[in-house]
Amino acid sequence: MYFVEVILPLSLAKTFTYCISEAEFHYIKKGMRVVVPFGKNKMYTALVLEVHQNKPTLYEAKEIHQILDEKNIVTEIQLSHWQWIASYYMCAIGDVYRGAMPSGLLMESETLISQKQDVFVVESQLSDDEFLVFEALQYQSSLKVQDIIAILNKKNIFPVIQKLIDKNILVLQEEIQESYKPKLVRYVRLNAKYESNSGLSELIETLKSANKQREIVMSYFQLSASEKKPITVKKLIETANSSSAIIKALIEKEIFEDYFIQEDRMNFEGIAQEEHLQLSDAQQNAFDEIKESFNQKEVCLLHGVTSSGKTEIYIKLIEEYLETGKQVLYLLPEIALTTQLVGRLRTYFGNKIAVFHSKYNNNERVEVWNQVLDNSSKAQVVIGARSALFLPFVNLGFIVVDEEHEQTFKQVDPAPRYHARDAAIVLAHLHQAKVLLGSATPSLETYFNAQTEKYGLVEIAKRFGNVRMPDIELVDLKDKYFRKKMTGHFSDTLINEITTALSLNEQVILFQNRRGYSPIIECMTCGNVPQCQQCDVSLTYHKHKNQLRCHYCGYTMAKPTHCHSCSSVDLTTKGFGTEQIEQELISVFPSAKTGRMDQDTTRGKFGFEKIIDSFKNREIDILVGTQMLAKGLDFDNVSLVGIMNADNMLYHPDFRAFERSFQMMTQVSGRSGRSEKQGKVIIQTYNPNHNTIQQVTVNDYLGMYNEQLYDRKIYKYPPYFRIIKLTLKHRDFDKLKEGSIWLYQVMSQNLNMPVLGPEEPAISRIRNEYIRTILIKIPQNTPIAGTKKTIQKILNSFEAVAQFRAIKVTINVDFY
Ligand code: ADP
Ligand code: ZN
Ligand code: ZN
Repeated sequence: MYFVEVILPLSLAKTFTYCISEAEFHYIKKGMRVVVPFGKNKMYTALVLEVHQNKPTLYEAKEIHQILDEKNIVTEIQLSHWQWIASYYMCAIGDVYRGAMPSGLLMESETLISQKQDVFVVESQLSDDEFLVFEALQYQSSLKVQDIIAILNKKNIFPVIQKLIDKNILVLQEEIQESYKPKLVRYVRLNAKYESNSGLSELIETLKSANKQREIVMSYFQLSASEKKPITVKKLIETANSSSAIIKALIEKEIFEDYFIQEDRMNFEGIAQEEHLQLSDAQQNAFDEIKESFNQKEVCLLHGVTSSGKTEIYIKLIEEYLETGKQVLYLLPEIALTTQLVGRLRTYFGNKIAVFHSKYNNNERVEVWNQVLDNSSKAQVVIGARSALFLPFVNLGFIVVDEEHEQTFKQVDPAPRYHARDAAIVLAHLHQAKVLLGSATPSLETYFNAQTEKYGLVEIAKRFGNVRMPDIELVDLKDKYFRKKMTGHFSDTLINEITTALSLNEQVILFQNRRGYSPIIECMTCGNVPQCQQCDVSLTYHKHKNQLRCHYCGYTMAKPTHCHSCSSVDLTTKGFGTEQIEQELISVFPSAKTGRMDQDTTRGKFGFEKIIDSFKNREIDILVGTQMLAKGLDFDNVSLVGIMNADNMLYHPDFRAFERSFQMMTQVSGRSGRSEKQGKVIIQTYNPNHNTIQQVTVNDYLGMYNEQLYDRKIYKYPPYFRIIKLTLKHRDFDKLKEGSIWLYQVMSQNLNMPVLGPEEPAISRIRNEYIRTILIKIPQNTPIAGTKKTIQKILNSFEAVAQFRAIKVTINVDFY
């Protein structure tokens, strides 16, 4: 008897055993996918962990349905890494598998397969099987895996589907809505009948009186003689200094023909610049120190102030790893930042760069997956957000984690709730690769690891090219309001500085962190604030749509004309977000061009890029935005940054609030004055004497670090304690309360460490589910694996209690 042990893409911690033939036993390798039946009539794409001969004792093994791969598509290192993630972050291996794979590689029996819209298909280029599937889709809009099995009358249909996906003809269900179009490039060629010499003279004769048309035909000849490759319409128009109307006329006369070629989806036409990047002395020193630290340590922190030129140091290091034939992974906290970076890196590495993130569609992700697995030259450097960590690297040498302090590196939902920085360090260890963490404002945890010499530490205190750090000025809001020096939310100081910047044609960034401080509607008579019906939050006012909206569940209602509680019509708006700032800006600076960057304006695949581009191209003078602005963007013409209100960040109920406020303000300030002229920053606050604000003003990272570290020790938080947060949810308030008290008591009796709770979080109900949290603080010197085992055991017994079974518990290890 022969068996395979597989992982299913479901939230299941167990692996499952299926039956295979002897031939299959010799064929199947660890890391291949097989389709298996599971549950009632369901098929899943499972991943092979091992082949063996141990008959399962608890159940009768079913047979696998089919083998999908000819070789492994997941590596052994990946499997070890995923197992580490499952165990460290206390989640099911199935969760990791499902989260790690592009869904294009995880087809299920329910997956709908349909034809991509607006794609021209050359039928003669399809194989017989491919044609049958394609033909079937001309009669119905979608097919299931089972349908295709019936049509082709064979079991192993996946390769056919995959080929059709690769040819950009089919899509899987989740992207039917997606508007991504392959890039088609338009070319022209001369009608064949004019190719000969006699044809040519005939043509010149025909065009004797059509000057412009003749010119473009002449240009065509020149180009085809010199370039010896297909000529694009664009190139021809440029060369002949002509227009598309004239080409159109020639096509109508059947002198030219146009045709289309699909550009490789992620192709890059440019060539890497040969010119060499010259590091400054400070950069060169840092570079040498990093390499020296890599001789002894696997991880190094590069702590360099904003605009110190960290990216160039990464580039130099990447260059060296590429020369030794290694793969490089470059992690960014935010998908939106990739475009800028990709542009920058492509001038050095040209076609060797691949990009991987969740806004890419399935085809693109599967493409990169395969390139990485094949160690293709097209994916020597992979740039991506946290999920790029799961790619099948075969020869990884170096990982850069840029802006390592960013909390977006921690996945909140769904499981696996991993921290990409920490998981990257483990991955690097498995590959014997090196990790460089970069930041102007490192997280306390990372700096602590550097101080205690677990990581190397390299610092750059100066900006590149003698650019000075910005001059930061504090504006006391209490005083300004008292002396009536405010226009809306703008102090006279800020208005003066904006006026100056605009008069010099310089650009301005205004930062408004909306978190916990959104505009609401309040009744002036009774004080009532409209609440979401399903969540325990006030509805947020969106002026543009004249709507109230819940940011937690998406519930919306039209803005009320009167109070629902007392019927008064005396309603006012309170609080302010980016939208209101922009409105005020328009009335104070009517001739300035303003733009806004927040979650509402950056939706869609290229939403963010559009705004960044128009700001870079100076189509926007003043950009108002949320923390999205704080993340490593490089603008050369911004001379002023205004922080509208520093206080709402400081007083967020979170043990990291001061650290985060420091990071956020320092990072936003860092967008100012990135060229010769010293930049200016205005921080408006009610608390100009607050330690954190003072630390931002003089760029005192160490001061912030030491003060916060002291608090963390006293109050038992990271880096001295590891935090595990348990979140319990249920629609029944009393049941939840009872369950969470039970769980809390058992935890605190059995764990010899601080357990806090059960706490009602600030937002204690979302989508009609009540929420309670329990915090477990594990001292740094306690073995964590044993503690987790105990926690898991207690959770198992919790689940075994009948009346608690319906309570959902999620586990967040290293809660951020
Ligand atoms: P950081 O990532 O540390 O904030 P950047 O890498 O974005 O800083 O560099 C800041 C600016 O200085 C960028 O515009 C970059 O192009 C420029 N710069 C940095 N180092 C060099 C160098 N060695 N040669 C030329 N320009 C550089
Ligand atoms: Zn009222
Ligand atoms: Zn809601």
